[in-house]
Amino acid sequence: MAGSRMKLDLSRVVQGRGRLGLLKEVGRMGQHSVDIPGCLLYTHLGSVPHLTQDTLHTISCLPAVTHVTLSNMAEHQEVLEEFKGGLKKFAGLHDTVLYCSLHDPAAHCPTGHTTNKTVSVWGSGGRIELTAAKFMALQKTVQPDWYQSMADGETWQTGTSRKRVRKSVDRTLAHLDECLTVHQKSQDLEGVDIFGVVEGGDILEERVRSARETAKRPVAGFCLDGFQTGAMDQALRSQLITAVTQELPEDKPRLLQGVGRPDEVLECVEAGIDLFEGFFPFQATERGCALCFSFDITPNPERAAPDEEPHTAGGTQLNGDVNCDDQTHMTRFEMNLKDKRYQDDFRPLVEGCGCYCCRNHQRAYVHHLLMTNELLAGVLLMIHNTCHYHSFFRAIREALANDKMDLLRRSVLWNGKE
Ligand SMILES: [Zn+2]
Repeated sequence: MAGSRMKLDLSRVVQGRGRLGLLKEVGRMGQHSVDIPGCLLYTHLGSVPHLTQDTLHTISCLPAVTHVTLSNMAEHQEVLEEFKGGLKKFAGLHDTVLYCSLHDPAAHCPTGHTTNKTVSVWGSGGRIELTAAKFMALQKTVQPDWYQSMADGETWQTGTSRKRVRKSVDRTLAHLDECLTVHQKSQDLEGVDIFGVVEGGDILEERVRSARETAKRPVAGFCLDGFQTGAMDQALRSQLITAVTQELPEDKPRLLQGVGRPDEVLECVEAGIDLFEGFFPFQATERGCALCFSFDITPNPERAAPDEEPHTAGGTQLNGDVNCDDQTHMTRFEMNLKDKRYQDDFRPLVEGCGCYCCRNHQRAYVHHLLMTNELLAGVLLMIHNTCHYHSFFRAIREALANDKMDLLRRSVLWNGKE
């Protein structure tokens, strides 16, 4: 039987939607739990980019769930099949929950390659076409604890026709049924959870239909696809997510794909989202930036506001405010350490941050490493960004528990405001 293990205990629901709770009995042996709202650990083939397992585990607040994608994995199917032990063993992962999704949220995914029977993923070697049978064979090889069902998610762009959106909802439901049939007969996938995918583009009726129909199937939870940053106006997204979450059962988790910016995360938590993908710290690291937004909600007169001026690189748009579909742009939640102004700035990346980088190094040193293309720059930035981002999720849970979401929002949005 699919999706029977994971259990969600809600301890609090704020204003009818924002959910605080604990996802229990997660993982094949049911040995893990995940706080919600929560975030997954973004990886490439099981490894957090730039970090070894040893380095990673110096960071506190790490999520229990490691996120891998079929776009990274599909081209290694033969090697993994030969290895036989599954990806966890192959990548040297211990004591974690492995979640496998279709696409890499931090990589560009070209559209125009789905058919009634197939979807395509893009690895380093190019496009790989997957039928439901191949998709399920891959899951058996990867041996995740939990995976996303196959979906036709090519309808996120504004202006996609109603006919195409309807087709994507129909195909995604058909893919789910096919995956469930294989899943339920497979001994290899016993105890593994499957999430159904809600599609529907920007059309309310299709979103509602997709949510209702998916909820009728024996899934452990739901992935909400097609809401990624830049896909649509934030107000419309919140309205659609609210409509979708109202259709979904209270006791199953909802994972939002493709959204990582802190302001958007807060908005989506308040629309009823429980889980997010954790690719944002990686994107900031790749552009030489350190996350520096504040999420401090404890009253402290000596630290009333962040000590920084707005962090905008010369000419870079403040894309916290606009509908920007280019995720390579710096956002207002980070500082660009390549900027010359940091060459003699001897403060830590973020005052008060307890990460290894901030305890041992200054902005000037990371600036120097970036300027000389030292690999250590990526390592130090990734340590700080991972720590900062996952601490932000802890702050969200504290804010929900203490009725301080307004305060948290103000703190987060302060960055970049004059
Ligand atoms: Zn730090």
